[in-house]
Amino acid sequence: MVCECDGDGDEEDFNVAVGYSLYADNAGIRAIAVTSRCVACGRLGYWVDWMVRTGDTTLLELA
Ligand SMILES: [Zn+2]
Repeated sequence: MVCECDGDGDEEDFNVAVGYSLYADNAGIRAIAVTSRCVACGRLGYWVDWMVRTGDTTLLELA
């Protein structure tokens, strides 16, 4: 990824966060969202989200 601020010129570091929502009965994952923050300028963005609609929670058990 490359931020619009061009970071420190050599490389760019980002913090990455992942969030998710569960169905009310904890029957599975409803959606996942991923976003990033540029360490150099603090700009938030470059996010994406997916509607998952699955009952599979195997990955949550690994977190
Ligand atoms: Zn930046």
